[in-house]
Amino acid sequence: MTGISKEKTVKTTCPYCGVGCGVLATVREDGSVGIAGDPDHPANYGRLCSKGSALGETLSLEDRLLYPEIGGKRSDWDGALTLVAEKFSAAIREHGPDSVAFYVSGQILTEDYYVANKLMKGFIGSANIDTNSRLCMASSVAGHRRAFGSDTVAGAYEDLETCDLLVLVGSNLAWCHPVLFQRVEAAKANNPNMRVVVVDPRETATCAIADLHLALKPDTDVALFNGLLGFLSETEALDRTYIEAHTNGFEDAIQAAGACEINRISGETGLTPHDLATFYTMVARTEKTVTLYSQGVNQSVVGTDKVNAIINTHLATGRIGKPGMGPFSATGQPNAMGGREVGGLANMLAAHMAIENPDHRALVQSFWQSPTIASKQGLKAVDLFNATRNGKIKALWIMATNPVDSLPDADGVAEALEICPFVVVSDVTRAADTVAYADVLLPAAAWGEKDGTVTNSERRISRQKKFLDLPGDTRPDWWQLADVARRMGFEDAFHYDGPAAIFREHAALSNAGNNGSRDFDISALKDISPAAFDDLEPIQWPQPGTSVSNGETRFFAKGGFFRSDGKANFIAVSHKEPRKRERRYPLVLNTGRVRDHWHTMTRTGKTPRSSSHIAEPYAELHPDDAREAGIAAADLVEVKSPHGSAVVRAQITGRAQKGSVFVPMHWTDQVSSKGRIDAVVAPETDPVSGQPGSKFTPVAIRKLEFG
Ligand code: SF4
Repeated sequence: MTGISKEKTVKTTCPYCGVGCGVLATVREDGSVGIAGDPDHPANYGRLCSKGSALGETLSLEDRLLYPEIGGKRSDWDGALTLVAEKFSAAIREHGPDSVAFYVSGQILTEDYYVANKLMKGFIGSANIDTNSRLCMASSVAGHRRAFGSDTVAGAYEDLETCDLLVLVGSNLAWCHPVLFQRVEAAKANNPNMRVVVVDPRETATCAIADLHLALKPDTDVALFNGLLGFLSETEALDRTYIEAHTNGFEDAIQAAGACEINRISGETGLTPHDLATFYTMVARTEKTVTLYSQGVNQSVVGTDKVNAIINTHLATGRIGKPGMGPFSATGQPNAMGGREVGGLANMLAAHMAIENPDHRALVQSFWQSPTIASKQGLKAVDLFNATRNGKIKALWIMATNPVDSLPDADGVAEALEICPFVVVSDVTRAADTVAYADVLLPAAAWGEKDGTVTNSERRISRQKKFLDLPGDTRPDWWQLADVARRMGFEDAFHYDGPAAIFREHAALSNAGNNGSRDFDISALKDISPAAFDDLEPIQWPQPGTSVSNGETRFFAKGGFFRSDGKANFIAVSHKEPRKRERRYPLVLNTGRVRDHWHTMTRTGKTPRSSSHIAEPYAELHPDDAREAGIAAADLVEVKSPHGSAVVRAQITGRAQKGSVFVPMHWTDQVSSKGRIDAVVAPETDPVSGQPGSKFTPVAIRKLEFG
């Protein structure tokens, strides 16, 4: 023994949720990897949740894709990427740029996203690049842009700790953003004045810290927050100075909201007049209020209206952009925010610029020196797969996501991939059912094997760093995309010697031609050296001390919105009665996450620890609904809609709302036969954001009889 340890510890970031916790990964002499929370990372200060703690157990090569495959047979990179380039080029030649598409993921790194977006929008000339983040936060993006003129999340995690009232809407923070929940829990323990309100049809684990749980009827949030706007107005709790100086459209919004008629709102939302009055009074009297919202708001056919109904209440009180105040959308995925920065969605350009704006298009095209630039929005996720099913998409590249299991109407997605003449899948393992539909399969580098950046829910950019060698012939996603771009003839614009070079270009673009009218600017990092990039500490934008608007270092405290007049827009929204349920489909299906699994379990499925909490898919049913259907606890039941069916185990609990059934979204048919709930979910979307309403599908449920 020399006493010299060969252990190596690398600072990186958790690849699961949008909290973006810092992780210390220690590679031991025996090759095993120890995982600990990074005490210096400002997202988690050393904490990790159950998913993050188990990361070291998910790194085995079992099931890994190690070599490129063509038609199910092992190939090499030259053969596979030549074929991809030829097929995409041929489709564009014969059918035009909009005949090809990329469907990417909030799991890929900002550098991957940047190259994919540049290739599709600047060189292919289509905006047909969308992402599974469409399922996660598209309604928040649309709501921000309608209100602020930019997709700006104005707050930070500290605001959740320093507020006196935290309203959690459609967020099971305890399971979906657990470290953030731990921070809130600790803050509440230290602040006797702090109150937490949970707005959720279900009684979730988050209700453990709630002073008030508002179990509203599904999809009635607009009625609740319009009622709040009316109440604030009627009780003189408005900040008229802020409204006057920094906003437009207040009168229209208040008119659309209507008077605060508690009995009417009670009828619409199903909440008691007493609970409504308690909530409204709490908000009216508490200056330091934060409203955090997540998928229960976003995943709705009225998701954007819900977001704006919430934002309206903050604009009306001037409670935005100040410590302990503001609306705050929690992103689901580790790099949903990074995808937004690079414009990796079908309705965005790059660097928070707008595809509809000719000046922005010219600016980006000039920066990229590209032959073309997409001039209109592309197909959003659900539309993209519908178009594929209709034969309009001739070549499709799916990267780091599993739409055959995770998109609504999942059987329809599988059919679309059968129909599509050429499907490329880049992924890490064979665990995703989508892999079976690939004409070309590209083995991607996994977490721990690749380098780049991610941005968390509070706009903090952190490094994901390599601590393991690339196994087999695996390669990072950006490398695959850049190689295909060059083979398609775009020689000069895709020569990168590593992620630092891509990051520099991304940073430079954030301020290209800047006239100060955009929120996202990281141009201070545009000359970062590879060594400095390697050591980059977590950094939030705007960078500390930077004046963002009207001399403020926080967004929107004194206005400074990203519209020509610098004002925010109130958006007039009205409550729409949720879709009527037919007699045949009397229950509302709500899908979501469990504590210890992630997405379609391609990573968390590798460790038994992640299944020790909840081992199989289940349907959470109210006792009255179970009794009516003759279902007992632990019965196997079929959940059915016009789109498909799934088989799960019944769990009967008063935590469920009568008339609703909750089923988690993680299980695939590979893991649990017929457990794939997205086969049941309706592919209906919000008309503004294109986000599917995954929390409201009318379904029927019946007990399966055996023998
Ligand atoms: Fe990872 Fe999210 Fe858990 Fe943090 S809270 S350790 S980012 S899953």
